[in-house]
This record gives sequence, C-alpha cells and structure tokens, in this order.
Amino acid sequence: MKKFNAEDITEDGKKKFSIKKADTKVKDFYDSEKEYLEMLAELQDQLDDLQTRLYANSKYGILVIFQAMDAAGKDGTMKAVFKNVNPLGLKFYSFKRPSTKELNHDYLWRCFKELPERGTVQVFNRSYYEEVLVVKVHPEILHTQQRIPDELIAEDVWADRYEDIKNFEKYLSRNGIKVIKFFLNVSREEQSDRLIERIEDASKNWKFEDGDIKERDFWDDYMAAYEDMINATATKRNPWYVIPADDKKNMRLMVARILVENLKGLNLEYPESSEERRAQLEGMIGTIREQNKK
Ligand code: ATP
Ligand code: MG
Repeated sequence: MKKFNAEDITEDGKKKFSIKKADTKVKDFYDSEKEYLEMLAELQDQLDDLQTRLYANSKYGILVIFQAMDAAGKDGTMKAVFKNVNPLGLKFYSFKRPSTKELNHDYLWRCFKELPERGTVQVFNRSYYEEVLVVKVHPEILHTQQRIPDELIAEDVWADRYEDIKNFEKYLSRNGIKVIKFFLNVSREEQSDRLIERIEDASKNWKFEDGDIKERDFWDDYMAAYEDMINATATKRNPWYVIPADDKKNMRLMVARILVENLKGLNLEYPESSEERRAQLEGMIGTIREQNKK
C-alpha cells in the first residue's frame, strides 16, 4: 500500500499557499481496483468506530467543511467517505443561495443552527466560506442582497470577514467543536470534462445547472479568492486540507485518511467503568435473571 502523509497537503498558514502550485492530481495510492476498495473499506470502518467513540465520550463535536468549484466531486466524496458511519451520529447540510429570511440576518446566523452536537459529526456541503468566495467574486451581493451598510464595506470587508471566520472557528474549537476543512481542488480541464459529461449522459442532466457555465468565466477570480481565503484562514488548529480532485478515488482515500487521523488525534477512549460500578453492574445480571423467572 502506498502511503501519503496528510501533513504534506496541510497548509498551516506558515507556508504560503499558492493555488497555481497546488496539485490537482496525485500518483495513485493503490495498484488495483481491488486494493482501492480494500483501502477505502478499512478507512470507512475506522471512521465508524471513531464516531461511536465520539458518541460514547460525548465531549467533542466534529464539523467537516467541504468547499470546491462545481463538479469537483463534493457529493460523491461525502457519500463514499461516510458510508459506514452510523447515520444517527451524522448529519449533512448543504448551503445554497441564502433565502430572504437568511439575508435579513448576519451571515453566520444560518450556520449556527446547523452546528454539530457533542458526540456527532456534522458535514457542511459549502459553508460560511461562500461569504469570501462567491460573494468576493460578485461583490455587488454585499449591496444588493446582504444590504451591508456602505461605510462597513468601505473598510476592508474581506479582511474583516477572514478575521471573523477565524475567530468563529477559534470559538468553536474552544468549545470542543473540531473543525476540519477540505478544499477539493479540481482543474479547469477536468471540470470541463465533467460538465460536458453531465450534458452528454442523459441520466446526469439533472445535475447540470445553466448558471455553472456562467461561473466558469470567473474561474481566475475564484482561484484568487480560494488562495486568499486559505492563506487568511488556515491556522495550526484549523488547517485547510487542499485535496487534488481530478481523480475521485485518490481524493476519497485522502479525505477519509485525514478524517481518521484527526479523530484519532482526539484520543477517544471508551469511558471506563470504575471497579465499584463493574461490581454493581454484575449484580444486575442476577436481577435480570430473577425477573425472567417471574
Ligand atoms: P450541486 O453539486 O448539486 O450543484 P451545489 O453545492 O453546487 O451542489 P447548488 O444549489 O448548485 O449546490 O449551488 C449552491 C449555490 O449557492 C452556489 O452557486 C453557491 O456559490 C451559492 N451560495 C452559497 N452560499 C451563498 C451565499 N452566502 N451567497 C451567495 N451565494 C451563495
Ligand atoms: Mg451547483
């Protein structure tokens, strides 16, 4: 089995992250389809076990964030990686264009309501990071939709948002909510192939959105926004994992591996019973047997 080191693709803010230099492809971590499936299954099982421990401990909550350009494979990655995790301890939420009610609030409002409970994993399909991505690429949204007062926009609105987001994540970490952030880095060429496939393959037409083509014209602006975002909001505690996304299988292995490593890092042991409690519990076996006789 070929190994990769999550550290190699972690940008911790000290290294200057350059999107031009970031890989969209990696060498395969597996030699055959069989080996890939075995590796994935092993990671899926480990994640299931770790989530059970997380729930048994009930101290930490996990917030997993996925950001990417369209057709980078967010949905498929989530589906594959979390396949074996107990659905009772796992939730997904997709952030779409904000509703009128959401736009009447500050931008974190809609995210607060979806944060994970202790013992559970919450996955954000897009997140508050859209506020420094799509909104930065189309800054008129600040005026027309969000109605941010002009004088606040005149200050450095993006620097302010990076700082607020960083502080928000620091606050979450200090409350036992671990934030794990993935940027699935797909190349423009691969995106083009996948969009065309969505048109050519009739069964995938439902995935195609006319607006996605319009956003391709802003590719360079998006890449610049991603680069700035990662440089500004990657910290030692809350790094960004930049995942080469041109190959879906390698991407799944990387994401699953990183999640496993992060959860293992929390040292989630099953809570231990004291000697006294063990004796008390064993006594209850007798009680159950007595009950059965009645
Ligand atoms: P799919 O793979 O199904 O296309 P998706 O995540 O792209 O999944 P969509 O409903 O197509 O889902 O896209 C959501 C859209 O909402 C994106 O274009 C995104 O940029 C936009 N969006 C999300 N949050 C905001 C926001 N705060 N302000 C403006 N637009 C937003
Ligand atoms: Mg879309």
